[in-house]
Amino acid sequence: MQILMAASEVYPYAKTGGLADVVGSLSQALNRLGVRVAVVLPYYKSIERSRFELKQTGLRISVPLGSHHETAEIWSHDLRGVSVFLVKCDRYFDRENLYGTPEGDYPDNAERFIFFSRAVLETARAVHLRPDLIHCHDWHTGLVPILLSTFYRADAHFESSATLFTIHNLGYQGIFWHYDWPLTGLPWSLFTDQGAEFFGKINCMKAGLVFSDLLNTVSPRYAREIQTPEFGFGLDGVLRARSGSLFGILNGIDVEEWDPSKDPHLPRTYGFSDLSGKGACKEGLQKELGLPVEGETPILSSITRLTAQKGLDLLLAVFDEIMALGTQFVLLGSGDKEYEDRFKKVAEKYPLQVHVRISYDNRLAHRIEAGSDVFIMPSRYEPCGLNQMMSLRYGTVPLVRATGGLDDSVRSFSPQSGKGNGFKFKPYEATALLTKTRQAVELYPKRPQWHRLMQNGMLGDYSWDVSAKKYLGIYRLAQKTRQG
Ligand code: ADP
Repeated sequence: MQILMAASEVYPYAKTGGLADVVGSLSQALNRLGVRVAVVLPYYKSIERSRFELKQTGLRISVPLGSHHETAEIWSHDLRGVSVFLVKCDRYFDRENLYGTPEGDYPDNAERFIFFSRAVLETARAVHLRPDLIHCHDWHTGLVPILLSTFYRADAHFESSATLFTIHNLGYQGIFWHYDWPLTGLPWSLFTDQGAEFFGKINCMKAGLVFSDLLNTVSPRYAREIQTPEFGFGLDGVLRARSGSLFGILNGIDVEEWDPSKDPHLPRTYGFSDLSGKGACKEGLQKELGLPVEGETPILSSITRLTAQKGLDLLLAVFDEIMALGTQFVLLGSGDKEYEDRFKKVAEKYPLQVHVRISYDNRLAHRIEAGSDVFIMPSRYEPCGLNQMMSLRYGTVPLVRATGGLDDSVRSFSPQSGKGNGFKFKPYEATALLTKTRQAVELYPKRPQWHRLMQNGMLGDYSWDVSAKKYLGIYRLAQKTRQG
């Protein structure tokens, strides 16, 4: 089977969040199962040509965009058996960031990703790929299925191409004013409430949901949640109408990159049977961040995009109380200025207990995962969440709100039975978060129980092996759906 993945970010080339991790590691896992996988992504300015030894294919594509054509070069790379194609069009992608600046999105994002969606299909054609299935990820590639079923339906390259659209986060839909519709080249007859139209605007996510053969999202719980008004962001009706074609598959993580027993970013490695290295990592982290080196003080941490989705307002509402419990707190994140400022303020208020790092730093993320004791994710909603799984693997106990993939992957610890791998609260309330934090801090000095809790997490299987097989099953089903 030949799969073509289309995504706006793919690890290790370009990443702002979990989407990149998923596309990168799912491709590898499928490849290990014997599936041929090709990936198409934009060639951003931040992608270092020399680091990846990218190759110029010499192929150029010409992409129709409304009344004009935009040309792009196709670059390529082999990522351990996965063919990666990068679409180089400097007009759209030679910029500092992927989607925008802290002040807001790039104003021409509609044009950039209409271009990219069409470029995905033009790239397949240029490199003579005949995909059995095109796997589109999030709104940036939401127009691929509708373009496929119109302009490319008669094209022999796509004769047997079924489509799967994966929702990584329904909160970002790619909504643009209707004046951009002519850029797609599609007729206005497809710009209706049965198609890509959404309250008078273009909705790229909705186009993906309506025109793909099958749909899935990144956890079973989130697949159910998004069919309700509370989590549906206005698309719950569309999703309910397609509920028979909508699946939930929990993400895995890259267990090679996130492995405390051989992580090159740590001062000392450790594993399930010998946790002593974790203490060294904690000490190293406290020293690195200028916090008092205190082995008995629990370190709570968070590595996150700073957005309302992540429930940080709950944390900030009870921050003083959490400090009064005698904890240290470490945050690594970037995003909305409002949260950046609020966290900088708490760092100033508690210089001996708090370290806030406003940046994106993968290496520091590894050291925080290893060096802290509790990882906090009070998300308002969380399609899957990867950090709780990285934390579990590193023996850092997740404390999460019971939503989406957090609910599917974290089980409340019972000191009586010794079962469970974390702490979990349900209502979106700061007091609920505080209660669980207090429980965690009280359990922390009870070493045998705490070690049991850590080890329950470390024993879990967070690899892609199981989920990649589930994707393969869905690919086959999508093909049958299309044929049948
Ligand atoms: P989302 O995709 O909503 O951002 P996920 O938990 O699914 O959340 O994935 C987030 C990924 O991005 C994880 O791999 C996490 O470690 C990483 N990440 C987020 N913020 C930062 C940061 N500031 N520095 C380094 N890594 C980060």
